[in-house]
Amino acid sequence: MKNIKIYGLVLGLALLQNCATTKNFSYDGKGFKDAYNSITSAELKENLYIIAADDMEGRDTGSAGQKKAGVYMIEQYKKNGIGFPPALGSYYQKVPSASMKKYGETLPDSENILAFIPGTEKLEEIIVVSAHYDHVGTKNGVVYNGADDDGSGTVAVMEIAEAFQEAKKKGYGPKRSILFLHVTGEEHGLFGSEYYSENPVFPLANTVADLNIDMIGRDDPENRGKQYVYVIGSEMLSSDLKKINEAANDKTVKLELNYKYDDPKDPQRLYYRSDHYNFAKHNIPVAFFFDGIHEDYHKSTDDPDKIDYPLLQKRAQLVFATAWELANRPDRIVVDGKNTR
Ligand SMILES: [Zn+2]
Repeated sequence: MKNIKIYGLVLGLALLQNCATTKNFSYDGKGFKDAYNSITSAELKENLYIIAADDMEGRDTGSAGQKKAGVYMIEQYKKNGIGFPPALGSYYQKVPSASMKKYGETLPDSENILAFIPGTEKLEEIIVVSAHYDHVGTKNGVVYNGADDDGSGTVAVMEIAEAFQEAKKKGYGPKRSILFLHVTGEEHGLFGSEYYSENPVFPLANTVADLNIDMIGRDDPENRGKQYVYVIGSEMLSSDLKKINEAANDKTVKLELNYKYDDPKDPQRLYYRSDHYNFAKHNIPVAFFFDGIHEDYHKSTDDPDKIDYPLLQKRAQLVFATAWELANRPDRIVVDGKNTR
């Protein structure tokens, strides 16, 4: 009798504990849904009008305008209670001038900006969500605001971080750690991401994937008016990643996923042309999210009033949903492919 009572008590406690630790991380669960719904076109717009304002002077690498944009971004992370990687000791990773000389230019010292949410179960495994926050600056007194390139990716990364932090506050913190990586020097030669990959704050061997966003706020002539996004490189290194991204899309925004640029014969060779490649070359699976080459690409007219904010929201939500699965699934994704076809 006594023994049975004790057994009952132990069983009861075990059930109670089980209820407390088994949370629903699926796309149908409240943890995901609330966070997903916190990504809004209104907040993306508010931030983008600041990041791509004239007083950021086109955010050229190492310029006062770029540093001002960086300060604003860090203020937002602080406001949301999102810190930096402990090993770095600050949000800044200095990218020295000497590391950016490859193409004969001399650029000033500049900074990558890193925000970090530690994983609750697999702290040492890192998911990277990246975007470059530099642009091409000012030419003949005209500011190149770079609202789409890559203000759109910059504010998307900030909003995705905020969504993960929302989930964390409600007890749904990511199981793996997430690094929000804003790189510098992209327009001059992918320098910030190259510097990070050569001076990683977390071991590359523990870096599971990089989801890179470079231009997701517009459409190109080929897809005018469509609800789409180009996804590039998602099946190169991992047979899991493309499937995860497609499942995330089916469960959420249902965009048309365009794989045109995955064709190895495509002359644009975009797989090699943005910051994700500095992860891919170290055998880290990547997916690159992109809206295409449009009329205002690298022109002074790439302005925030031309952004399709509802579409920007959907694309940011897709990257969030994919990152969510990468961070919370039981097994780390496989690396079973090669960088060349
Ligand atoms: Zn860009």
